[in-house]
Amino acid sequence: MDYALLKKNFENHRFKTAYFATKEEAASYLADRIHGETVGFGGSMTAQEMGLYELLGKDNTVIWHWKSDDAQAARLQARDATVYILSANGVSATGELVNVDGTGNRLAASLFGPKKVVYVVGKNKIEPDLPSAMKRARNVAATKNAIRFNKKTPCVATGGERCFDCNSPERICNATVILERPMNGMETEILFIDEELGY
Ligand code: SF4
Repeated sequence: MDYALLKKNFENHRFKTAYFATKEEAASYLADRIHGETVGFGGSMTAQEMGLYELLGKDNTVIWHWKSDDAQAARLQARDATVYILSANGVSATGELVNVDGTGNRLAASLFGPKKVVYVVGKNKIEPDLPSAMKRARNVAATKNAIRFNKKTPCVATGGERCFDCNSPERICNATVILERPMNGMETEILFIDEELGY
């Protein structure tokens, strides 16, 4: 991971960044800094692999639809989080974050509401530029997520080979957000982690 390049380009876009060699170090960094907050989570294998729900739950109110018996209620509650944590489906080394959603709770909560948003990003998410990050979001991240949720979509039917830009009712790629700069009034921090994490 070329953190010097990532730091230069993302901080030039007014994002806050930090680098960690391991997911444990990144998780400790967040646990040291987030106390007494309402922390919402977007669907994120990276956050799950980091154990953030359990770790931050020691000292915060944590809300995650992946951990709730009523996923929709949790999605709605997470809209009122003061801190929101998610990953990205694609990251361009030129300084943009790409996310694709089927339901939209993750995109919506990451764009308006929390005072702070934290992106946790493994090295496997990083691509040289925005077109390749967008390509990754659909052809790698979305297809793997569709497989994980066993969706009836052509990407799943072909074993996750690529995106077919399908029109399936079970399509999970209904909206794409390219975050080019932090949203107004929202602190946005990206934790770059030098490990393969999530999809
Ligand atoms: S648009 Fe359809 S085929 Fe493409 S990744 Fe999304 S669900 Fe799969």
